[in-house]
Parts: sequence; C-alpha cells; structure tokens
Amino acid sequence: MDTKTAQLLDGKALAQKIQTKLTQRIQALQPQIGRPPGLAVLMVGDNPASAAYVRNKERACTKVGIASFGEHFSVHTTQVELEQVIQALNQDERVDGILVQLPLPDHLDAVSLLNQIAPDKDADGLHPVNLGRLVRGEPGLRSCTPAGVIRLLQEYQIQLEGKQAVVLGRSILVGKPLALMLLEADATVTIAHSRSHSLQAITKSADILISAVGRPALITAEMVKPRAVVVDVGINRITDGGGNSRLVGDVHFESVQGVAEFLTPVPGGIGPMTVAMLLQNTVSSYSQRHPDVPKDP
Ligand code: NAP
Repeated sequence: MDTKTAQLLDGKALAQKIQTKLTQRIQALQPQIGRPPGLAVLMVGDNPASAAYVRNKERACTKVGIASFGEHFSVHTTQVELEQVIQALNQDERVDGILVQLPLPDHLDAVSLLNQIAPDKDADGLHPVNLGRLVRGEPGLRSCTPAGVIRLLQEYQIQLEGKQAVVLGRSILVGKPLALMLLEADATVTIAHSRSHSLQAITKSADILISAVGRPALITAEMVKPRAVVVDVGINRITDGGGNSRLVGDVHFESVQGVAEFLTPVPGGIGPMTVAMLLQNTVSSYSQRHPDVPKDP
C-alpha cells in the first residue's frame, strides 16, 4: 500500500520570509522617502472574526515597519461618514494603502465604498480599476488572497503552465481573480460553484485543485486526483464533540493528505500569505508613489 503523505505548502514560513524582505526594503527606502509606509485598515462594527483579522494585520504592519492608520467605527456609522474618511485617506500623504475590512454591516454598500478608494492605494486589489488591470493582464495591485496562492505555488516551483486547474468558488474576493491569475500563468482553468453539476468529476480532473468555498470537509479524498496539488483557501470555525472550537479549511485534511502530492494546512497556509501580500501591496504602492527610489526587486 502507498503510505506517502502530501508535502505541506508552508504558507506561514513563506509569509515570514516575505516579511523579513519587506522589513529590509522599508529600512532601505525610509531614509530616502522620509517616512515609513502607511496602511489604513477600516473596520466597522464588532464582528469578532473581523476584529481578529484586523488585529493580525496591524500586528504584521508593526513588525515590518508599516505605520497603521487603522480606525474602528461603530456599527451605526453611515455610508457618507465612511466615504468622507476614505476621501481624506486618499489625500493623506502618509497613507499608501487603504483597506475596508469585509463584511460590513447590512446598511452599508461595500461595493460603493471600495470604489471610493484611490486605485493606487487599493491595498486589497478589489477596486474595479485593479480588477480590470488583472483581466487585461496589466500590472496593478492584485487581490491579496489569490496573489498569496500563486506566490506559494511559485515558491514550491509547482508548474502551472498547461496544467488543469480547478477553482471552487467564484467570489470577487477569491475565486474570480484567482482563476484569472491561474490563466495568466498559462493553466487551463475551470471554475466550479454551488450550481455546478458533477462536482466530483470536475475536481478529480484537477492537477491543481483550489477550494475557496467556506464548507468544512467539502473536499474528500475521493474528489482528488492522485498526486494533485490541493490548496485550501477556506476558513471555517467548527466546534468538536468536546465543545472545543478550532479553525479548519474546506479540505478533509486527514484523508486528502494520503492522495495529494502537495497540500496547504489550515491554519498556516493561505491565511498568513494573504497578510504578507497585503503588506507587499502597501510597500509596492509606497515605492511607486516615489518614482525617484529604486524599483521593487
Ligand atoms: P463567498 O463569497 O461566500 O463565496 C463562496 C463561493 O463558494 C461561491 O462562489 C459559492 O457558489 C461557492 N460554493 C458554495 N457552496 C458550494 C459547493 N457546495 N460546491 C461548490 N462551490 C460552492 O466566500 P469567499 O469570500 O470567496 O471565501 C471563501 C472561503 O475562503 C471562506 O471560507 C473564507 O473564510 C475563506 N477566505 C480565506 C481567506 C484567507 O486569507 N485564507 C481570505 C478570504 C476568504 P455561488 O457563487 O454559486 O454561490
């Protein structure tokens, strides 16, 4: 019997490596620019998961030397108030990146708010201008989670050219931009979603299978092609029989690790890569807003 288990794609270690490089780059640029890079994370309401993500991002900023201009707004904040804050941040010379933590309370229009962010400060890469650049294959700020997936695959020299890549999920945050980035890397891409028929036949055709759905244990061993690369973007909080809560992805890790060649863990896979790409986008905006400094390596 083949008892090989999948090699883990260690997003945590790679994110750490990227952060070390960013720290050095900031130390080199700051004397020339005269200030550190700045990131503003806007959070509205008190969703505990969002609060934890925001804390994480701010901690990572501090670690690499990015100044945080985060603001936490009450759940009753209006659309107009937030628009004014974004306009002020667009003008603020100390701020290179602006990010609105999603989801927002129901009375707010997230799309309209994201559209207010200046495209060159759009650290999350979700502004239509940056998504349009991705569609056209032009340089621009790329969405952090999909960019983190691609960067992690590159680190392990996983070939994408000519491979069958299947993306589960078609959100504007993950699935759609990720499919475009895989296409840009010359993979043959299929996008599946909640209305797709014969999901197992689709997933089983994948050399590279990426799940961005948000359902624990959606992907089981029977759905995975032997020796496939499996990337788990999902983050789900589950409570076990003993009442303990923990984070899991969309992939049934224990069974799939016996079939896949490479597999991302949750936590420690795409989560830390997303934060690393956010920092990278901020530093990239910082240097691009000062054309006299050396370009990003
Ligand atoms: P989302 O907006 O809810 O989208 C989920 C997608 O999954 C939708 O396209 C949906 O299809 C599809 N779907 C639902 N049930 C399905 C099924 N049974 N089979 C196939 N597809 C199915 O979620 P999201 O924002 O893209 O996030 C997806 C997951 O990634 C969540 O767990 C989220 O927490 C996680 N996430 C992780 C990171 C990270 O840093 N690791 C970042 C962002 C998101 P329809 O379009 O037909 O509804």
